[in-house]
Amino acid sequence: MTFNELGLNKSILHALNKQGYTNPTPIQERAIPVLLQGKDLLGCAQTGTGKTAAFTIPILQHLENEPSQGKGKRKIKSLVVTPTRELAVQIGESIAAYGEFTHLKHTVIFGGVKQGAQTKALHHGVDILVATPGRLLDLINQGFISLDHIKYFVLDEADQMLDMGFIHDIKKIIKKLPKKRQSLFFSATMAKPIVELSQQILGEPEQITI
Ligand code: AMP
Repeated sequence: MTFNELGLNKSILHALNKQGYTNPTPIQERAIPVLLQGKDLLGCAQTGTGKTAAFTIPILQHLENEPSQGKGKRKIKSLVVTPTRELAVQIGESIAAYGEFTHLKHTVIFGGVKQGAQTKALHHGVDILVATPGRLLDLINQGFISLDHIKYFVLDEADQMLDMGFIHDIKKIIKKLPKKRQSLFFSATMAKPIVELSQQILGEPEQITI
């Protein structure tokens, strides 16, 4: 299979071509059609399988296909929560690469650094926010971020989130999300607490194990 057969927008195909990608990886081949249909996804996949593109590409396409909201500040419509700064930065780089020929904006926020540059980027308005849990809650509580317009939510590396003790933060974040949304949940392992957490987030998900 090639990316051309997945029904992707020209802007995204152009970006994938620029990256030198011709064939989707197995998780991309299976997840992209499911996600373009708007279904929730429970993905059991490790880093290195191409899962970042598997979730960023459909989100970029959904957002690009939405009617423009006219003037006024962009509202955050997609939220990706990931456990570490390194992963957050990598996801941001993927969004920048695959979304290069769209007009969508994104930013990445994480703890351990001053918040000024992050709040400035948020102030200008973004479509997609990539965040680690602690800094996300911090900036929500300070009024810099609203999750009221989120349509696409991704919880990445859920097992690592639990290992790092982020469960309470994740539950607080979930409570702030609109009920009507598409949710994606990724974990390399599916132990009982992870499955239970996924059930609190997902509707009736398609499950893909790679
Ligand atoms: P990930 O599992 O998302 O961290 O991706 C692992 C690596 O595979 C990254 O360096 C990507 O740039 C690369 N990659 C993702 N999808 C493809 C693809 N379809 N063809 C070639 N490389 C890819």
